[in-house]
Amino acid sequence: MIDCDIAVVGAGAAGHAAAIAAARLSAGRHSVLLLERADRVGRKLLATGGGTCNLTNLHVSVERYHGADPGFVSPVLHTWSAGAVMDFFDEIGVPCRTEPDGRAYPCGAQASAVQDALRLEAQRRGVVTLSGFDVGDVRVRDPILLEDTPLYVKRPFELVAGDGRVVRTSRLIVATGGPAAPQLGGSDTGHRLLGSLGHVSTQLLPAIVQITTEKPFVKSLSGIRVQGVATLLRNGNPVRSEQGEILFADYGLSGPVSLQLGGMVSRAIDTGGEVLEISINFFPEMDRATLTNWLIRRAERLTGVTGMDFLSGALNKRVGQAVFKAGLGQKLTDPVGVLDPATATRLANAIQDTRIRVTGVQGWREAQVTAGGVEVSGFEPESLESRIIPGLYTCGEVLDVDGDCGGYNLHWAWASGLVAGNSAARSLEA
Ligand SMILES: Cc1cc2nc3c(=O)[nH]c(=O)nc-3n(C[C@H](O)[C@H](O)[C@H](O)COP(=O)(O)OP(=O)(O)OC[C@H]3O[C@@H](n4cnc5c(N)ncnc54)[C@H](O)[C@@H]3O)c2cc1C
Repeated sequence: MIDCDIAVVGAGAAGHAAAIAAARLSAGRHSVLLLERADRVGRKLLATGGGTCNLTNLHVSVERYHGADPGFVSPVLHTWSAGAVMDFFDEIGVPCRTEPDGRAYPCGAQASAVQDALRLEAQRRGVVTLSGFDVGDVRVRDPILLEDTPLYVKRPFELVAGDGRVVRTSRLIVATGGPAAPQLGGSDTGHRLLGSLGHVSTQLLPAIVQITTEKPFVKSLSGIRVQGVATLLRNGNPVRSEQGEILFADYGLSGPVSLQLGGMVSRAIDTGGEVLEISINFFPEMDRATLTNWLIRRAERLTGVTGMDFLSGALNKRVGQAVFKAGLGQKLTDPVGVLDPATATRLANAIQDTRIRVTGVQGWREAQVTAGGVEVSGFEPESLESRIIPGLYTCGEVLDVDGDCGGYNLHWAWASGLVAGNSAARSLEA
């Protein structure tokens, strides 16, 4: 049996932030225990940003977050802006730099430095970390009734590990993340633990994940990266557009743009009954009419050119061939000749609106984030304390909050962790 004042379950990004905040505010008056089921902490964090850790974004705002009630994140983001999070990392030894699109990284571009700084700051503040402690069950001890007056027990939460060890604590912070990337420790155990305490979870779905599509077009271009605009269409209607790098793969589409749309595809597939397509604009530099005239003039200038090379230079050569073939249904070896306006319009449409039927998304192993989670309506948005069980807090990805690709998910993990840790420690001071 181990007794402590504040126990944090899950030593990922949110759990570390929560433990550090609680220990800082407690300043030695309250004991803080960080429990991690894996033998080593921080496996997921080490993989973030391809090992460089995109830890926040200057454009953090409510609009970047999704879930049943995205406005829930507002008070937390108000307290912990991107600047405040970068200051926190600077204080613990990791200065950050930002890119033109707002993404922030540690100056040394190493996720391992972020992990080390968190571990050392936790140690410095007196947090005790227990790895290999897999919390399998949570019990809340009832108040003892003394002549009808409830006498609250000092440490009402009992955390039971798989091996029978028990931790008793006054405050409990659940920071167990979600099932994305199980090979890096992702799991839904937190949803189960919070479920046993009365907190309901929404459907869990993979997000920031590659999109699977019908094969012929994408497979022929597998491995090619292009810059363009991808628009997700539901029953022919545009839902969201993203501009940037698109990577073709055997199974469908990857790269930053597709990852960004993946969560929305996941949710739409889950709803069912809709036709989903990705429309790709390979040449967003011109509007449709300008592009059509430009193609007519190009055909006049490039006498003798065949479909093999007609779009080369403007588009990636293989993409140009695939689009030419799909748009005009003409043999690539035939000379293009004079383009009449109707044919030029068909080709311009193919260049700016190639439609690929979406079949789904890759699975949990490939997903970076979990869409869905524990319902936020069960928690106070300012303190992240449970509305059902006083003294219980949560933070990070276990909640029904998922952010866009670009540092927004780690931002939520740090910011919500810092809020939950502060709130838990402050409640003990009262
Ligand atoms: C490959 C990859 C790259 C990513 N890159 C970025 C990026 O660059 N920028 C960004 O913003 N986001 C990125 N993300 C997303 C980001 O890593 C997560 O959103 C974030 O780590 C969530 O933090 P968390 O603390 O809530 O959960 P986690 O980091 O998943 O931590 C939860 C911890 O709880 C532990 N745990 C679970 N159950 C128990 C239990 N019962 N008992 C004890 N311990 C338990 C787990 O082992 C884990 O260590 C990436 C994700 C992946 C997979």
